[in-house]
Amino acid sequence: MKLKGTKLYSVLTFTCPRCHEGKFFKQGNSYRKGFAEARPSCTHCGEDFRREPGYYFGAAYVSYALTVALWVAVYVALWVFDALGWISFRFFENGWLFLIVGSIVLLALMPPLYRLSRIIWINLFVDYREDAVEFNRALRLEEEKAPPSELAESA
Ligand SMILES: [Zn+2]
Repeated sequence: MKLKGTKLYSVLTFTCPRCHEGKFFKQGNSYRKGFAEARPSCTHCGEDFRREPGYYFGAAYVSYALTVALWVAVYVALWVFDALGWISFRFFENGWLFLIVGSIVLLALMPPLYRLSRIIWINLFVDYREDAVEFNRALRLEEEKAPPSELAESA
């Protein structure tokens, strides 16, 4: 299956949603210092990653959805382990087990969840283009040629 060109590829590889070549984050490793720092723009095609002020506020909704999915996954895992006879887990008797395991997993996966929510968020609005480099170059040329004030005059 060819993944490149799909949004899933950009999300899983943390690459630019426009060209799928340049890296979105400065740091490649989710567990190294500076893991949360995104590049201002794509090093390959020049796509603007900053977009506008407060753009990534919406990533909080994605983060919330991912966190809920994670708690569900922990619950299912505990339920399966109980079914296999490895542990004893009854939600109303061993609720603390669910809370402890869920909290540990959530803390451990916080950095990748943070990165995932941002890359998913930008992928909701930016589509892949094979001609990403030319597309962004033309866009920048247009902006240089006609600043917003001139556009208003000609309209
Ligand atoms: Zn790019």
